[in-house]
Amino acid sequence: MLLWRPKTFFSFQYADFPGGIPPDAILIKTATFPREISDNATMTHFPHLFSPITVGTVELPNRLVMGSMHTGFEEHLAAIPAMTAYFVERAKGGTALMVTGGFSPTESGRLMPFGGEFTPEFAEAHQPMTAAVHDAGGRILLQLLHSGRYGYHADVVSCSATHAPIAPHPARELTDTEIRELIDHYAEAARLATEVAGYDGVEIMGSEGYLLNQFLAARTNLRDDDWGGDAERRRAFPLAVARAVRAAIGPDKIFSFRISMVDLVEDGQTWEEVATFARELEAAGVDVFMSGIGWHEARVPTIVTSVPNAAWTSYAQRLRKEVSVPVIASNRINTPQIAENLLIDGHADLISMARPFLADPAFVQKAKEGRAAEINHCISCNQACLDRTFSMQIVSCLVNPRAGRELELQLTPVSAATDAVTDGAAATGQRIGVIGAGVAGLAFAEAAATRGLKVEVFEAAAEVGGQFRLAAAIPGKEDYAGSLRYFSAQLDTLGVPVHTSSRVSADALLEQGFDQVVVATGVVPRIPDIEGINHPKVMNYQELLSGEQEAGQVVAVLGAGGIGVDVSEFLTREPNTPLPEWFADWGVVGNDKSPGGLGEPAAFQPLREVHLFQRKTSRIGKGLGATTGWVHRAELKRANVHGHTGVAYQRIDDDGLHYSDESGDHVLACDSVVICTGQESNTLAVGDTPANAAGDTAARVHVIGGADVAAELDAERAIRQAVELAAQL
Ligand code: NAP
Ligand code: SF4
Repeated sequence: MLLWRPKTFFSFQYADFPGGIPPDAILIKTATFPREISDNATMTHFPHLFSPITVGTVELPNRLVMGSMHTGFEEHLAAIPAMTAYFVERAKGGTALMVTGGFSPTESGRLMPFGGEFTPEFAEAHQPMTAAVHDAGGRILLQLLHSGRYGYHADVVSCSATHAPIAPHPARELTDTEIRELIDHYAEAARLATEVAGYDGVEIMGSEGYLLNQFLAARTNLRDDDWGGDAERRRAFPLAVARAVRAAIGPDKIFSFRISMVDLVEDGQTWEEVATFARELEAAGVDVFMSGIGWHEARVPTIVTSVPNAAWTSYAQRLRKEVSVPVIASNRINTPQIAENLLIDGHADLISMARPFLADPAFVQKAKEGRAAEINHCISCNQACLDRTFSMQIVSCLVNPRAGRELELQLTPVSAATDAVTDGAAATGQRIGVIGAGVAGLAFAEAAATRGLKVEVFEAAAEVGGQFRLAAAIPGKEDYAGSLRYFSAQLDTLGVPVHTSSRVSADALLEQGFDQVVVATGVVPRIPDIEGINHPKVMNYQELLSGEQEAGQVVAVLGAGGIGVDVSEFLTREPNTPLPEWFADWGVVGNDKSPGGLGEPAAFQPLREVHLFQRKTSRIGKGLGATTGWVHRAELKRANVHGHTGVAYQRIDDDGLHYSDESGDHVLACDSVVICTGQESNTLAVGDTPANAAGDTAARVHVIGGADVAAELDAERAIRQAVELAAQL
């Protein structure tokens, strides 16, 4: 029996402050919050995760929170049905509490040039969504986020006139009057969220370098008035917002504050300032603290796949000692076991994940039922989620293309679908052969079998995984193996036979009686036409990453696309960097030693001398992801990888790589040359018989993924194409 006692609420009435809570009012809390987890937990699977907890006055059935993530739906009233389907699916999946993307309390605080302010019209339009979430058994908070100097529009404001390095426009300084009005705007938006829209409460975004965080840090708050000048005055505005919001939502709604545990920027807050602020926020009526880690302009990665799992949770653990309300840990937590261990180790009271719930809306339910292996694994690639946000698109997920498209991309059970479909459709009982067990083939097989189609997979290699298996060998991409674990477990559960070391063709499968064939044979490395390309020191990236070939001490990498960059990291770093070493590499020293938590990065000794070549004259790594490219470029710099741009390859021989650039002819005396010059579709399995024949037979062969288009091959397109095909058949 778990004994969770709700905290006694505050010893005053909000009605005591008819004109709003005075800025200096301190709310006195009369009881501490018991947070230890009873040993008598009765759940078999992840007992700590599935023990209830009281947040504010609300009991949650488990400790799993879907943290705020901008989806792209926020700005558009017309997107509310899609946003509803997105949240309802996750509520049905058992998530205890969800937080929306950020909505601004004022027009000036919007992130995008269009929309975003939480108006009465939005509040009314959100009401059916919150009702649907409640009907599905979930709870949801609206996040109020003022972008401050991070807005993508010309009328950005901040505490002081500064220009964020990642923002297009400089910010104008808010006047004293505007600051006081802004407090009222926060309160009004919070009231609308709870009274009109039906949210279970609100979360105030106070981290990641947005407006409230800008007020808190000497880096951006250059004022010398009631709202800045020393740490106490820098806290005055966020605290006034917190008091006003609590007053506006009343005592029973959940009030979460996303606090910046460590800013990871120069002149950021010290730990003492963070802890003092947290204690004051608790007194102001905050029910729960959500972890915020690092500003968006920080040059330390906080969530990409190369960040060690649960890297930042020691800050949450530390905050738990400062406050008596629950603390939520977040960032790079993507399995129930990691989450459970964090609770066991006392790092947090609840666990927030955002991207893992995009990858699998049924994460919680599967964990509860002991089916953790069947949870679709978020690989922290950012490719279809955060990178899309930066290009102002609706988010989705590389491993789950249904995310954000719940209404349009449905895997209807085949018995229900067959009545409605006509030409080329697979009826129940039809056999589908899949050639290739890379992620495209695996994703197709899983989605088709989920619908009830009879699928069999044939893979020429001894193991499944294709390019993902190679990617998992890259230091910092170890999580990609989790994705393959997921697909294997799913196919096993769904009873899909997977034949490895089986090289087959479409013709052969059709002759064997398969009704439809899906060719997902992926790509083969493109071998450039360079004299000496067959020299013994030359290998392609597949041979290197699979361990078939080993590189020497000085290596030339030809081709500086995503794979050339990955290979350069593989050649210079050990995999699975331990956390203390990773912190040292990035200069993270903790914010009690240094404001913002930054120090000098440790010196790094690369494993090899690597030279990375491209024919283009553009910056190396220019085409990498918006949110991940800078991390790769920083890794290359740290490992002293020599970039060569604008080159022409001449030949490879015993002396090394001969090339020219604008300064003349050169020879790089290297031991190995690794070819990373793109890929070509591997269409051998299509054959030249029925697949290419006209009419009905050709319609029964479907080519997807890299086998279809190798140019700009990426796993996101391959998996999306696979699932869309499985949904249509
Ligand atoms: P890629 O991005 O197309 O890069 C291959 C590079 O090889 C090109 O940039 C090109 O640069 C060079 N090249 C092409 N044809 C050549 C030829 N005939 N001779 C000499 N050089 C040639 O392909 P990739 O690196 O293989 O990556 C494939 C895809 O995987 C990417 O599009 C990406 O979506 C994905 N991926 C991404 C990441 C990541 O974001 N970290 C990591 C791995 C893979 P020059 O012509 O300038 O020399
Ligand atoms: Fe995770 Fe990548 Fe999906 Fe984003 S796109 S949720 S990072 S797997």
